[in-house]
Amino acid sequence: MAARHEVLIIGGGNAGISLAARLHRYGVTDVAVVEPKDHHLYQPLFSHIAGGRAQATEAIRSQLSVTPTGVTWIHDGAAAIDADANTVTLASGAEVAYGQLVVCPGLQYDWDAVPGLAEAVHSAHGSSHYEFELAPKTWTLLSGMTSGTAVFTMPAGPIKCGGASQKPMYLACDYWREQGVLDSIRVVMVQPYPTVFGVPEIDDELDRKIAEYGIELRTNSELVAVDAGSQVATIRDTGTGAEEALRYDVLNAVPPQSAPDWLKATDLPAPGEPGGFVEVDRQTLRHLRYPNVWSLGDAAGTTNSKSGGALRKQTKVVAQNLVAARKGKALPAKYDGYSVCPFTVSRSTVVFAEFDDRYRPRPSIPRVPTWNESRLSWVVDRDIFPQVYWNLILKGRA
Ligand SMILES: Cc1cc2nc3c(=O)[nH]c(=O)nc-3n(C[C@H](O)[C@H](O)[C@H](O)COP(=O)(O)OP(=O)(O)OC[C@H]3O[C@@H](n4cnc5c(N)ncnc54)[C@H](O)[C@@H]3O)c2cc1C
Repeated sequence: MAARHEVLIIGGGNAGISLAARLHRYGVTDVAVVEPKDHHLYQPLFSHIAGGRAQATEAIRSQLSVTPTGVTWIHDGAAAIDADANTVTLASGAEVAYGQLVVCPGLQYDWDAVPGLAEAVHSAHGSSHYEFELAPKTWTLLSGMTSGTAVFTMPAGPIKCGGASQKPMYLACDYWREQGVLDSIRVVMVQPYPTVFGVPEIDDELDRKIAEYGIELRTNSELVAVDAGSQVATIRDTGTGAEEALRYDVLNAVPPQSAPDWLKATDLPAPGEPGGFVEVDRQTLRHLRYPNVWSLGDAAGTTNSKSGGALRKQTKVVAQNLVAARKGKALPAKYDGYSVCPFTVSRSTVVFAEFDDRYRPRPSIPRVPTWNESRLSWVVDRDIFPQVYWNLILKGRA
């Protein structure tokens, strides 16, 4: 007989743990979380680590310590889902049946989509702060520069916290300015979209900082190949197709991303959707074809920019809707597309970008331009948010 849980959550990351805690608080007694890793990461701090403003130890805790009391942790990975039979097959081969299924295993990094990238980020001159293990290396490389060329790249397509590709760059520029070496360092930011971010008010603030630091911004451009041996990054203009070989002394690259391959192979993504994200109603977060399946966070096929700030809102929506659905009631909650990206534009200030899924500003304090560069936003992002994350969000209380 397969084990069975009333609510089975795949993924014990930001989404899975905060949802499990909230459901438990709402009185759902049988919640299980499938999570293969034995540690839990607070990813927003990766940018601070890579920019020399946080220690790696601040971003990691044991999975056991964040799993809510009363919630079952299945220390295994999901390998397949049979949504018709209401079962999940685990990597160990075991099968778990469910009443309601929530799918939130995050994203996978598609290193092989850019030839040479995987080798480059593990070479002496390359890194990627999107990997916890490499974030300290990014700072070692950046802080060790006194001259030369630093290249930062962001891929096209849905990725987690798109603006995070820029954060260590600004932190490093401010550090180099303090050290008196900024003028000797050529800084290139490779960006796939027409502007630096996509929200005009926020673009203005970021463009101002880009000019201040003398950064070369390459819009409509993508990293298409890296040769770690000769330290050359090839970037392509997505409009003209023209290619340019950039010799770098330090490369910090963000990999292309998509839903995990095993998830793509299930019936849950929309047919033909290349990213493989779970096909949910973007407001109720309920699956469009399987009413007892839900998704939130990075793996959900929603239209918002993927972030912890977005899924904080989604968690409440899924928890309220799932509880109502179990009672046969109408779904009471709707997600509104909100997302957030705190840009660390210096070692003590942040441009706090809040916006919706049409890239319109959505400040939490109405009519207050929270996107203006601010010292207070730095304190909120660097000091307050980590505490809120560990003590409230993961406990289903924020
Ligand atoms: C460098 C960086 C900076 C960021 N900065 C910010 C920021 O400033 N603000 C912000 O709001 N957001 C930020 N984010 C984004 C935010 O961290 C993510 O959006 C958020 O963690 C997504 O939560 P999730 O639960 O969907 O995925 P994750 O938190 O990634 O969790 C997914 C979990 O699923 C598990 N899993 C994987 N495969 C399986 C499987 N087969 N079976 C079961 N479980 C599995 C994983 O081990 C993981 O624990 C940043 C992210 C990065 C990488």
